[in-house]
Amino acid sequence: MTSNLNVFDFYEHEDRSLEYVLENILSDQSIDGSDNEFQHLQREYNSILLNGCDCISSKFGCLECHGRNYKWFAETGELVLDTDNSVDLIYECSSSCKCEPSKCTNRLVQKGPRAKLKIVHSNLFKSKGLFSSDHIPKGGFICEYAGEIISRKEAHNRLKKYEQNLDNYILFMTERIKEGHDKSSTTTIIDPTKRGNIGRYLNHSCNPNCEPYSQNET
Ligand SMILES: [Zn+2]
Ligand SMILES: [Zn+2]
Ligand SMILES: [Zn+2]
Repeated sequence: MTSNLNVFDFYEHEDRSLEYVLENILSDQSIDGSDNEFQHLQREYNSILLNGCDCISSKFGCLECHGRNYKWFAETGELVLDTDNSVDLIYECSSSCKCEPSKCTNRLVQKGPRAKLKIVHSNLFKSKGLFSSDHIPKGGFICEYAGEIISRKEAHNRLKKYEQNLDNYILFMTERIKEGHDKSSTTTIIDPTKRGNIGRYLNHSCNPNCEPYSQNET
């Protein structure tokens, strides 16, 4: 996860007590000396893996230089997730890469949510949900689920506090990472309750029409 200031996100919250954040931010949870996980998050936040690509003038752009993440979908003129390839973790190009950002074909999530999303209150479910008036192609990107990055300990404290009035999901996202023969996993916990983006209105469905993916910049 890295900080990126070129996010085009013009959505906002109707409820002015909520803070709109463009991307995941590290919580300002009070420093607890015994919370090693939070100390680790503080060290790792905004870190960049330094394996950028060298695609200065490749005519294929960056479709495959960090694994094959996306493909071009001509019908709607957009990059979509290449679901025919199993994508464990999406690595996008970043400031470590030599490619020209405006020509790069491996930058999607970092540019912000798709257009024409609407927050609509449902009388049936008595809550707000996220809708689109556009057809979204298979693999099309909707938005990041952005909020405060917190530790497991803080998540359990907050869940106890929110118990009576849980409108949002604290998302526990586990990424499995393979490096050669080594396998490891890391869990990112995101709370969009007070600080979040438009993703906080995505609701759980027993019959979902979209699913979460993990993204990392290299
Ligand atoms: Zn590249
Ligand atoms: Zn790159
Ligand atoms: Zn690139």
